Amino acid sequence: MLNKFLIQVVDNVVGRLGSEIVGLLYKKKDVNEFNIAKKLKLTINQTRNILYKLSDAGLISFNRKKDKKKGWYTYFWTLDVKTSLKYLKKILLKNLESTRNQLKSRDTKRFYVCDYCNIEISEENALLNNFTCTECGEIYELQDNTKLVKDLKNIIDKTEKEIEFIDLEIVKIDVVDVRKLERDMKKEKAEKKLARAIARKKSAKLKAKLNGTVVKKPTKKKVKKKVKKKVVKKKVKKKVVKKKSLLKRLIGKK
Ligand SMILES: [Zn+2]
Repeated sequence: MLNKFLIQVVDNVVGRLGSEIVGLLYKKKDVNEFNIAKKLKLTINQTRNILYKLSDAGLISFNRKKDKKKGWYTYFWTLDVKTSLKYLKKILLKNLESTRNQLKSRDTKRFYVCDYCNIEISEENALLNNFTCTECGEIYELQDNTKLVKDLKNIIDKTEKEIEFIDLEIVKIDVVDVRKLERDMKKEKAEKKLARAIARKKSAKLKAKLNGTVVKKPTKKKVKKKVKKKVVKKKVKKKVVKKKSLLKRLIGKK
């Protein structure tokens, strides 16, 4: 369904090639424009015209790289699924509005037809012409709207469901984006922390060098740590003993 929608958007912007272009770009990143041209069997200029149109609409984005020898740029393209879906949603909302208006008009107004000329006119105009076709002189007949109303209602249902689907897909993309952002922030935080730690170590070393006490300090620290560890162990043992005695007491009570 998502694929179908993306094809629809591209077709809407460039008129055709939707399925080929989506097939080339979907779930990929930085696709070389020369590969796209080759696959589309178009010249590089034709291909670029199409890609620029899609880029102007915001459906695709590019990275470019300069060829150091030749001095020109090669463009690499990526499909922006979220923007594409938003673009399609706009189109669908417009269609939905016009279909709803049509339905309203069919529900509340009457239309007349000339069966011979296959012409339909509003009731006001039919009245103005005395219910006689201006082309052939036949009498207009009242249009039966039943089927049309049913069709319009179906179109509205379908469009509403499509918009719902698109909204859901956009939310999914947002969730992925937020998660990525959180990961990046965590990573950045960790990197900063590491950088600070390294800087601290460096400045400590520098200070130590200046004071001439490089070797002594760490050994002192080690001694301290050992002492601390012993204390911790003792504490743990005590806790265990306490727990055991507590258990005994509890059992004894029973
Ligand atoms: Zn007629």
